[in-house]
Amino acid sequence: MNSRLSMETGQKSERSLCKGCDDQYDVQISEAKLARLVELASRSRPVVADAEYERRLSSCYSCPALQYGSTCRYCGCLVQVRAKLLDSTCPFPYNSRWI
Ligand code: SF4
Repeated sequence: MNSRLSMETGQKSERSLCKGCDDQYDVQISEAKLARLVELASRSRPVVADAEYERRLSSCYSCPALQYGSTCRYCGCLVQVRAKLLDSTCPFPYNSRWI
């Protein structure tokens, strides 16, 4: 049964699950990999000072839009990377949570 037919009939099939909802996939990113990605992003773009980075991340860690401890549901970014970059903004609807 294809996924469109599954949705129309209300039946579930393996093909209708996204990776974030399917237990066979691990969508968590390790601390080491996150640190590596932040380091790579920081090489070629202006970054914020450590205190501002921690302040931004603190907002993310208490935000209802944070998924899996690393991903912003509004932009799909890894917040550890997004918060590090000087020109980044918080995409929370109506009001940035970083201000
Ligand atoms: S909406 Fe803003 S505060 Fe919330 S997770 Fe995304 S970037 Fe972080």
